[in-house]
Amino acid sequence: MMEKVTKPIYVTQPALPPLEEFTDLLKEIWDSKIITNNGPFHQQFEHALAAYLGVKHISVFSNGTLALITALQVLRITGEVITTPFSFVATTHSLWWNNIKPVFSDIEPDYFNLDPEKVEAAITPQTTAIMPVHVYGNPCNLERFQQIADTYGLKLIYDAAHAFGVKVNGNSVLNYGDLSILSFHATKVFNTIEGGAIVSPDAQTKKRIDYLKNFGFAGETTVIAPGINAKMNEIQAAYGLLQLKSIDQIIEKRKRISDLYRVHLKDIRGISFLNPAEGVDYNFAYFPILIDSSQFGPSRDMVYDELKKHDIFPRRYFYPLISQFPTYKGLASASPDNLPVAEEITKKILCLPIYPDLEEKSVLNICAIINTLKEKHAQ
Ligand SMILES: *Cc1c(COP(=O)(O)O)cnc(C)c1O
Repeated sequence: MMEKVTKPIYVTQPALPPLEEFTDLLKEIWDSKIITNNGPFHQQFEHALAAYLGVKHISVFSNGTLALITALQVLRITGEVITTPFSFVATTHSLWWNNIKPVFSDIEPDYFNLDPEKVEAAITPQTTAIMPVHVYGNPCNLERFQQIADTYGLKLIYDAAHAFGVKVNGNSVLNYGDLSILSFHATKVFNTIEGGAIVSPDAQTKKRIDYLKNFGFAGETTVIAPGINAKMNEIQAAYGLLQLKSIDQIIEKRKRISDLYRVHLKDIRGISFLNPAEGVDYNFAYFPILIDSSQFGPSRDMVYDELKKHDIFPRRYFYPLISQFPTYKGLASASPDNLPVAEEITKKILCLPIYPDLEEKSVLNICAIINTLKEKHAQ
């Protein structure tokens, strides 16, 4: 039965590497006194990440937002970029910080990713790139986006902040497009406390990215561009190396939580969830459900409030839409008429808690609370 949970349960809780192993690495750092600027752990971490992810070149960053901002600089993106309103605000903020005009285009109803079939209508002479997001780690329509980018001569930059480790037919989703950006923030599947990365297809591009994340320095006295400081430090790189050792178990544990939710929510009318597509190795980054109040009874916000009363804190990722924030609301493309699918999904979506150490009884409790709310409402 429903029991009152004692500790609050948040939508996520970070996995941390074993403390003893981390202190061993900290001792090495204390001995070497190399604490940042492409030190030995930074280099090791980039190699280990590239190998694990199955990508050729990766540059780690102090966070995902600076990685996004830098990716746009590296490709010299200007003018307008077509992107999704259904994401974390940093996706669009990275355009704003580059003086690029975001153009919102609607999402598709299956995975809530940018809909390639709607993108073409948003292209203008000012458009230079498309920036889709693999929302919740589910891959975008990779072939269609590449086709459109090729046809119109546009760059394709994927915000892959949710897509750590995701593969399509055995190939990393990060190998698509011109560049892909990862986030290693504490709330993500794989964390370095704060952190991020850009995956690039060739060594020259990686070199330019590495210059840009270090003020534009290409040598002791050579500055090739007005770069930024977005370097990851040695302590985070060491932490990341340890984290990488357990990432497969982390994802496996997340899968178990996801399976449990599916079993216990599948028969509740008015609740539906996303199913990973065929051929996709998924990372179980989130557990989003859609609550259709015309069938379920209570609204999404009633479920959200009810869980909060029990000290359980799901999140309405992504509500409000980015297009509804004051900075972007005035853009013509931000009009709800332009984004009907996103406007509908944002009202129904709820991301339930999912993390490796979430206990089975907590998952059952969350499902019971949702079920009871429905039954009470029906009476
Ligand atoms: C987390 C996130 C970011 C930003 O990453 P940070 O590392 O927090 O700066 C960007 N885009 C999306 C879709 C995200 O979820």
